[in-house]
Amino acid sequence: MGRVVVLGSANMDLVVRMPRRPEPGETLTGTRFETGAGGKGLNQAIAAVRAGADVAFIGAVGTDSFGERLRARLVDDGVDDSRLQTLDAATGIAQISVTDDGENTIVIVPGANGHEGFDAADRALVEGASHLVVQLERPATVLAEAMRFAREQGVTTVLTPAPAREGIDDLIDLSDILVPNEGEAMLLSGAPDAESAAIALSRRARTVVVTLGSRGALVAEAGEIVRRVAPRPVEAIDTTGAGDTFVGVMVAWLVAEHPLAEALDAATAGASIAVTRAGAASSMPMRDEIIAALA
Ligand code: ADP
Repeated sequence: MGRVVVLGSANMDLVVRMPRRPEPGETLTGTRFETGAGGKGLNQAIAAVRAGADVAFIGAVGTDSFGERLRARLVDDGVDDSRLQTLDAATGIAQISVTDDGENTIVIVPGANGHEGFDAADRALVEGASHLVVQLERPATVLAEAMRFAREQGVTTVLTPAPAREGIDDLIDLSDILVPNEGEAMLLSGAPDAESAAIALSRRARTVVVTLGSRGALVAEAGEIVRRVAPRPVEAIDTTGAGDTFVGVMVAWLVAEHPLAEALDAATAGASIAVTRAGAASSMPMRDEIIAALA
């Protein structure tokens, strides 16, 4: 079985629960505060390792206590942290506001995640992998270098283009599997709906999987919709990390050499479990739970 290398962010999530979002200038009383391990990179690494993959993480944290907690989180779940550097910087944070309707808004301060390096030891890790998994919470220069190197080595590249931003055509061109959500797909393509966005993006990336929240997902290749993935109806209480769970589980199934269709069913099952629980990394299911849900 192949190895997954995740190159991405590690953030401490500072999660505030509130009945609704405050208006500008308004002070609102929240109902709960929690901290937890997060960042799209760390989340996808945890989702993949829990789903049964062999996972290594390339990233950076600061010298503060948040950094120590993030490393411990990765190690406790069995992720190889040999290329998680500790830098003289602040650990990245994400301030997450969750309202009673289960929706969330997020403000990120990248800190150590802004580290620019991709060195020989990082290359050695990628070279030995079957899949390189990246998101947009690390500098674009590092992502492009790592994805280009992976492609040269025959390593499959998986990009989650989030948080969404324009001007990443080079990264889309370097993606074997691109996994935007609906909003990201429309922003990146300029198309007015998910379907035409998927079709447009699939002329650049080899396979495009657009996730549609509670409506499931759709897949496009070479300018055509090739598959629709049915959702699993659940009562969502916190959708933080749904897309990251989806990607992590999908990749864990792919490295175990399951076909894409099975990987997407497992990803949908895994994400549907995650949204019924609070938190990002902490809400992600174990392999046995995913298999039970698929049965
Ligand atoms: P992101 O979290 O990146 O915005 P989505 O909201 O599209 O991504 O969710 C990713 C996947 O998580 C979906 O394709 C679906 O499988 C699952 N999911 C998300 N929200 C729900 C929900 N309310 N009910 C069931 N599954 C969900």
